[in-house]
Amino acid sequence: MYVMETNIKTASNIRNAGFEGEILTDEKSLVPYENDTSLFELRPALAVKPKSAEDVKKLVAFISEKKDANPNLSLTARAAGTGMAGGALNDSIIVDVANLNHIRSVSAERAVVEPGVFYRDMDTETRKQGVIMPSFPASRNLCAVGGMVGTNASGEMTLTYGSTENWVKRLKVVLSDGNEYEFGALTADELEKKKKIKGFEGEIYRRMHELLEKDYDIIKRAKPKVTKNSTGYALWNIWDRKTFDLTKLFTGSEGTLGLFTEIEFALIKPKEHRKLIVIFLRDLKILSTLIGKVLSHKPETFETYDDRVIQFILRFFPDFVRVMKTGLIKLGLSFIPEVIMVLKGGFPKLVLLAEFTGSTEEEASQKAQAAFEDLKQFNLQVEIMQTPKEAERFWTMRHESFNILRKHSGKNKTSPFIDDIIVNPAKLPEFMPRLDKVMAEYKLTYTIQGHIGDGNFHIFPLMNLHNARDRDIVMELSQKVFDLVFEFGGSMSAEHNDGLVRTAYLRQMYGEKIYHLFEETKNIFDPKNIFNPGKKVYGHDLAYIKEHIDKVY
Ligand SMILES: Cc1cc2nc3c(=O)[nH]c(=O)nc-3n(C[C@H](O)[C@H](O)[C@H](O)COP(=O)(O)OP(=O)(O)OC[C@H]3O[C@@H](n4cnc5c(N)ncnc54)[C@H](O)[C@@H]3O)c2cc1C
Repeated sequence: MYVMETNIKTASNIRNAGFEGEILTDEKSLVPYENDTSLFELRPALAVKPKSAEDVKKLVAFISEKKDANPNLSLTARAAGTGMAGGALNDSIIVDVANLNHIRSVSAERAVVEPGVFYRDMDTETRKQGVIMPSFPASRNLCAVGGMVGTNASGEMTLTYGSTENWVKRLKVVLSDGNEYEFGALTADELEKKKKIKGFEGEIYRRMHELLEKDYDIIKRAKPKVTKNSTGYALWNIWDRKTFDLTKLFTGSEGTLGLFTEIEFALIKPKEHRKLIVIFLRDLKILSTLIGKVLSHKPETFETYDDRVIQFILRFFPDFVRVMKTGLIKLGLSFIPEVIMVLKGGFPKLVLLAEFTGSTEEEASQKAQAAFEDLKQFNLQVEIMQTPKEAERFWTMRHESFNILRKHSGKNKTSPFIDDIIVNPAKLPEFMPRLDKVMAEYKLTYTIQGHIGDGNFHIFPLMNLHNARDRDIVMELSQKVFDLVFEFGGSMSAEHNDGLVRTAYLRQMYGEKIYHLFEETKNIFDPKNIFNPGKKVYGHDLAYIKEHIDKVY
């Protein structure tokens, strides 16, 4: 009762501070904010839905002022709430940016949007100009751009075009002093001018520049040796002694340094024609040579899923038919080649999808054919899909298996906790059997899929989280898999970020010195720790993490 009264009082004080948007305090309205797509459940005290950037500024100024008297107050941004790490969950105030959903402008080069805009809506507008923002995740129809920037999301086109950090060109951010600032790439001269500004903005540039200069080489060396990374703060990407760009720091910062109010994305014209090669692999020993060979032909995307995904799809075939919108018989017939293959030699361990693109049909076909010819030396089953329709069933298996798995998990939950590991693809033949061995200790049902061209795998075990033993396994297996990933010089998360699920392991991944620089960075931007506490630095211990695993789904 006391807590409820305090929350209502806080809500009324926020209103009195001039906040115009909705403020949600009742139990029922807060339920949707307890979960995202992660393992966790956390009840917030309040949720607020700012109407405008002005509202965000008032809110931050209010919390900043009250924080000393009430240390529990904090602000955690939430866009579409599809994150897999629990980044948008917290126990204080959730800032739902759903109403900051205006598309400000779209040209053939740039889109300027508010953080609550769904990627799918921005995509509809950019496609009218013949362009796209290419770092979209598989959840492109579900997620919003604020969350994509918050997590540094990426997806199948990232192999060619890089993660979201490559596409954010300018950000408006409300910082902990309650003011909105604009960030983008600066020359060394522009940086010096910024450093001379009096007040918080100048202080940010002065202190960040000093931090990055002081340990310049150590910071550059700390960058994980993988093609994409969403863990920690990307200090190594900000300053190369020519350009100083704080958008690189904000992207992937999970709302721990400030709240984004406007994002400018760069856009590209996608290649229109595509040809898919499907490779069925039984022997993982040749994996790295095979990956190197395929990559030498420069596919636009290079994805994979394992034998468990195929078995799963076959088990829930009617669902797959529904997603494909093709008749049962027609779709069933299209699988005859795979059925014959299985009868002859069992399921392939991995199915690899390499897609080649071009501005003309001929260009895409030539690239695919050249790769196809080159792959003959491996004596594998390799097929070129002649039409987009033929390619579609493989893409649907890759894209939809997580959702189908989720729907059929019954009392089990598709549990993302080792969901996003990445190691250099050259190390996979040694890494994969070691990973298999660790996984085999627990006899779990799980699928593996992912972005093989980057060495990035999504492992989704089905866990009965009502059961204490399964919750123990989550904790034990996380540690074992992360130990292995670190031994191979990889990263715990290529795209899903740290959130609740991985923050506790950041110190181990980066070591004491870099972790301390992360803490200093947080202190520069958010000295009172008002933004998304418990994420990235000053995280919760493992007991807290385990305690907040959702047991009542
Ligand atoms: C079926 C499925 C498939 C998925 N596939 C992929 C994939 O291929 N690749 C991938 O990267 N992810 C994937 N995800 C995870 C998720 O969709 C992405 O991480 C997505 O970018 C999150 O967007 P969101 O709008 O839901 O963000 P949320 O979950 O709402 O927030 C994510 C983070 O961003 C922060 N944030 C949000 N808005 C702001 C703001 N205005 N200012 C500051 N910080 C902010 C939040 O605090 C939080 O830390 C998948 C999820 C599902 C359910």
